Amino acid sequence: MIDSHCHLNLAPLGSNLTEVLRKAKQNGVKRIMVPGITPASWKVLSSFNSQPYCDILPIDTAIGLHPYFLPKERDEIPPLLKQFEEAVAGAVVNTKESLSVAEGALPNSQGFLAVAQGCDPEAQGCLSNAQGCLSSAKGCFCAIGETGLDGHIPVDMNVQKQVLHAHLDIADSFGLPVILHHRKSHHLLFEALKASSFEGRGVIHAFSGSTDVAKRYIDRGFCLGIGGTITYERAKKTKDTVTYLLRNHPESILLETDAPDMPMSGRQGQPNMPHYLTDVVAALSGLSEIEPNEIKTITSANYARLFKPSLF
Ligand SMILES: [Zn+2]
Repeated sequence: MIDSHCHLNLAPLGSNLTEVLRKAKQNGVKRIMVPGITPASWKVLSSFNSQPYCDILPIDTAIGLHPYFLPKERDEIPPLLKQFEEAVAGAVVNTKESLSVAEGALPNSQGFLAVAQGCDPEAQGCLSNAQGCLSSAKGCFCAIGETGLDGHIPVDMNVQKQVLHAHLDIADSFGLPVILHHRKSHHLLFEALKASSFEGRGVIHAFSGSTDVAKRYIDRGFCLGIGGTITYERAKKTKDTVTYLLRNHPESILLETDAPDMPMSGRQGQPNMPHYLTDVVAALSGLSEIEPNEIKTITSANYARLFKPSLF
């Protein structure tokens, strides 16, 4: 079971990571993806895998600029995008360098496999070669995001589009998948994807929407991140869509909590946590005849195919 979207750096998770990761592991979470949201967050994320708690669970990371945190002043955008491009290039180089150092330190591929197999038996895709095994064991930088378009915030939509396009361009040039945020913006996201030359893959995080909208994203090669929304009785449209996906496109579903945001049903008023991912699995199982364990296996394989942690 993999949490494909969890803001471990945000309060109150960030101040108590050892406990948060231990609880997640106890509940069966095998791996967590933490999207970047601001330049300050990239720094925190890049330090994750040198901390003592990195032995508890592999933490994958992404670099991006969340629309919610974009500066209000337009002239701050170009230098911010330059900083973003440099950070991505630096992260790719650093990841490759640390891999080659570690490769030299271990005698053979069997050594890597022994390390990695303990960390993530569900995501077989991560274990496909010796190169991937180091990053599988400790997590890696393997995506661009969180970026996207939000129709609910006082940030100029043209600025949001400009920043989104910069993310799509850089994802294309490094061959990395994107993590996309939406709120009242599916039509704008489709427009932006069409206007860009982006032909890569990605995930629509916290997907909610109709079956038609879901199909359009899948046709473009996107996965759909399914989280706490489907634990609510009232989320009929999204539940209908997810029921359709479970029957027809199980290969497109990723699990996520979006912790500490988006509390699950029955847990309102308290921060969301990665160990509550089991609520999402239970809700998915309830919408289908698929056993929880099979849902975990399918979605972990989907994660491995999309983010390919073995690439680095
Ligand atoms: Zn997020």
